[in-house]
Amino acid sequence: MTVASSVAISRRVSRYRSRKNNRDLSMKSQVTPVKTEMPTSSSPDDTKRVFLLNEGNKDMKMLLGGKGANLCEMVKLELPVPPAFIITTDTCLEYFREGTGDLPAGLDYEYALKTLEVDTGKAFGDPKNPLLVSVRSGAPASMPGMMDTVLNLGLNDEIVQGIIDTTGNERFAYDTYRRFLNMYSDVVMDLSKEPFEEVITEIKKKKGVKLDLELDASDWKQVVEEFKKINPNVPQDPREQLRGAVLAVFKSWNNDRAIRYRSYNGIPDSWGTAVSVQAMAYGNMNDECGTGVAFSRNPSTGEDKFFGEFLPNAAGEDVVAGIRTPQPLEEMAKKWPEVYGELYSYQDKLEKYYGDMQDIEFTVENGRLYMLQCRNGKRTAKAAVKIAVDMVKEGTLTPAEALLRIPANQMDFFLHPTLDPKADKTKIGEGLPASPGAATGKVVFNPDDAEVMANVGEEVILVRKETTPEDIHGMKSAVGVLTALGGMTSHAAVVARGMGKCCVSGCTGAEVDVRAKTLTLGDQVIKENDIITIDGSTGDVYLGSVERRSAAEDGDFQAVLEWADEMRELKVLTNADTPEQAATARSLGAQGIGLCRTEHMFFDPNRINAMRAMIVSEDKPERLEHLETLSEFQRSDIAAMLKEMDGLPLTIRLLDPPLHEFLPHSEEEMKTVAEVVGKPVSVLEDRVAQLKEVNPMLGFRGCRLSVVYPEITEMQARAVAAAAAKCKKAGLDPRAEIMVPVVSTSRELDLIVPRIKAAVNDVLAQEGVELDIPIGTMIELPRACQTADDIVKIKDVRFMSFGTNDLTQSVWGLSRDDAVKFMGRYSEQGLLDNDPFERFDEHGVGGLVKLALTKAREVDPDVKVGICGEHGGEPGSVAFFHKHKFNYVSCSPFRVPIARIAAGQAAAAELVALESKDKLYRESITNVKLNPKLSG
Ligand code: PEP
Ligand code: MG
Repeated sequence: MTVASSVAISRRVSRYRSRKNNRDLSMKSQVTPVKTEMPTSSSPDDTKRVFLLNEGNKDMKMLLGGKGANLCEMVKLELPVPPAFIITTDTCLEYFREGTGDLPAGLDYEYALKTLEVDTGKAFGDPKNPLLVSVRSGAPASMPGMMDTVLNLGLNDEIVQGIIDTTGNERFAYDTYRRFLNMYSDVVMDLSKEPFEEVITEIKKKKGVKLDLELDASDWKQVVEEFKKINPNVPQDPREQLRGAVLAVFKSWNNDRAIRYRSYNGIPDSWGTAVSVQAMAYGNMNDECGTGVAFSRNPSTGEDKFFGEFLPNAAGEDVVAGIRTPQPLEEMAKKWPEVYGELYSYQDKLEKYYGDMQDIEFTVENGRLYMLQCRNGKRTAKAAVKIAVDMVKEGTLTPAEALLRIPANQMDFFLHPTLDPKADKTKIGEGLPASPGAATGKVVFNPDDAEVMANVGEEVILVRKETTPEDIHGMKSAVGVLTALGGMTSHAAVVARGMGKCCVSGCTGAEVDVRAKTLTLGDQVIKENDIITIDGSTGDVYLGSVERRSAAEDGDFQAVLEWADEMRELKVLTNADTPEQAATARSLGAQGIGLCRTEHMFFDPNRINAMRAMIVSEDKPERLEHLETLSEFQRSDIAAMLKEMDGLPLTIRLLDPPLHEFLPHSEEEMKTVAEVVGKPVSVLEDRVAQLKEVNPMLGFRGCRLSVVYPEITEMQARAVAAAAAKCKKAGLDPRAEIMVPVVSTSRELDLIVPRIKAAVNDVLAQEGVELDIPIGTMIELPRACQTADDIVKIKDVRFMSFGTNDLTQSVWGLSRDDAVKFMGRYSEQGLLDNDPFERFDEHGVGGLVKLALTKAREVDPDVKVGICGEHGGEPGSVAFFHKHKFNYVSCSPFRVPIARIAAGQAAAAELVALESKDKLYRESITNVKLNPKLSG
């Protein structure tokens, strides 16, 4: 390399770095600009927009997209990759920013196209020796099938003749031309695919054949003529075609399904897609050609066995679309042993190089293998766990590295049931085990119906002939997916695996009639709303519902949990209100209960009227009378919970919800309560009217109830102490704690905490039992954050637990019950990356939490800090709580294992970063050349 060129490259690299840093900042701050607000990179003149494959590497995913960066890396590894160039993601962002609808001003890929011509010995647009290219999307994060691709670009009426002349293969030439016309019309010109498909169906019908392969050159020529009639406007100029396709790929970043996919997968809208333009390798020339998809390990089970499928004499889109059922790679090994051997060695090399299971796309052209793509493969939850454990056993990964490969949010697969082998069942069909797990639900035949039914709480199985990226919302809504066509690498299989959803694909003999809404399997006709069960681990389909059982005992899953437990610093507690929930959570590894919502103990139909009677009491004596009844319920429930949690903390929260939530509303209910309290209905109605609030969530709730009705708090505190004393006397180790909700000023605690303390001490003294029952507070209002130092100063306040549900509600000024009605529109318009009630809003709410921590720790550096909002079990949020040294997260029982893994991952990420820093440091000191003068 000349000095000049090396300087030029290092300048480009440093420009790339500065852009990357900008991008990283925008990711951290979760800015999601809409089209006109796309983040700027450095000035357009300063930007290298087009990279050849020898100019990039695997670490440039943000700029070249995952596909582009990995193509560059495969070139470095000397794998056979067709020549290509990549237009950067920044250029896509420029396209949206400029908003002209045309390519960004000054974008010039001619020199790169020239390089492709030199490397292939062909010329783009030259009928005598034509170069055809593919134009593909490639985002920094994998978004399979969501954006657009145009293949075989560079063909026209004259060039198709050139292909015939150079290859001597007329059938191939017209097959390729019809594919191009169809794809260009669909992707670039937005025409419906159906009229094109009808032409092919018609011609097959006329010839009495079933497969595309059975059509010959003259048939395809005729198809081409018909296609040109349907759309006579495909440009004949190859450069114009290229321009159109690049624009279409840019645009596809913002198509509906890509936007949806990003919002489901937390991929920022601000990233943009790269575009790769690559010389075509042909899998559809003859029987010595083919195309396939392979995985270095089984992506469904995780088994360490090279796994994949190929289709002879076919183009790439045929495999993914599931139009023909592909053959297993074992068949390829028989047919082309040498090519198979070569492919085998490449997958092995790639897996070792990336240290992860690889998903590979390849094409064989006249016996020559081309690698079109490699990436870390999507896998089921089960496979992810098995691969991680195996890679540790093989010595490829350390447990910390392996733990970071586990998609924590998919781990509920292990907590949800698989089919009970002993259950009675009627098998009605069999397909491919595309994504494991078992699901029972009502059959629906279109994705919109799936969404509508799921929204009203129905469990549905989406049944399709084959799925396409347009079906993604239906797949997301369904509990399982069944397709008649498609292999293990079809769209349905790949997407379902990514979602951790069970799927049976390629169901043999299944006939799906979407219009008539029927699924026919042999003699069995299943209609919409009929119930079926599918087993994505075996591929079996059953009539009706089948008993299921948990997969939680899976040995590999237990190993992953053990690594996480060893590494994590956060304790994982649970939110549980009944002994049953407590038992479940404990069996799933909960280290205590961080939130027991006592109000839930009174919603039981046998108890609610006692509660109502207490609420509508007109004076204290009447209230005390009803509190006595409630006290008995409270004591026995808490005792049962303490028994279940023997030796572990049980944090009991005082009554929190607005009282009106308990009130009778219907006439019927009013009458019943009137009878219980022995008062006329009209008195009751008046009392209910008095308690009615305009903004109940900002109203008479939480500790405000304790301020106004101290007798309620006293009853609860006495019940906790009595239950704990009883357990202690029974030889148990009760660890009750009492928590005060919805505090906005420390003065509330100043009033309430001594009352709690006195009630507890009184009961313990009466019972003659010594017990420590710590008192703490929830932090769920902005004012509480702002004054956390004052709160911690209050005598006997020993812990604070962030209620991030209410805190999010109050910081955003957004009702947690109503937001869902309109926040969807925010996501659609790119105003939100995540629902803040689901994923903790580090940027906004997090700022206040940090402030509260700083203030509280100034007063008491060791104050115990926890979180018990829903975010405590959301893996993406747990890292924040780890980073800010919370003592625990508390989440719903079934999220406990997920939180354990997420907490382990947060610690592992630091460990791995430390190790790599250490490695770099060690490398840097071994590489230091001593100053010759000093070394003498
Ligand atoms: C909270 O607000 O985060 C919390 C845990 O309390 P609740 O959800 O019961 O209001
Ligand atoms: Mg709350």
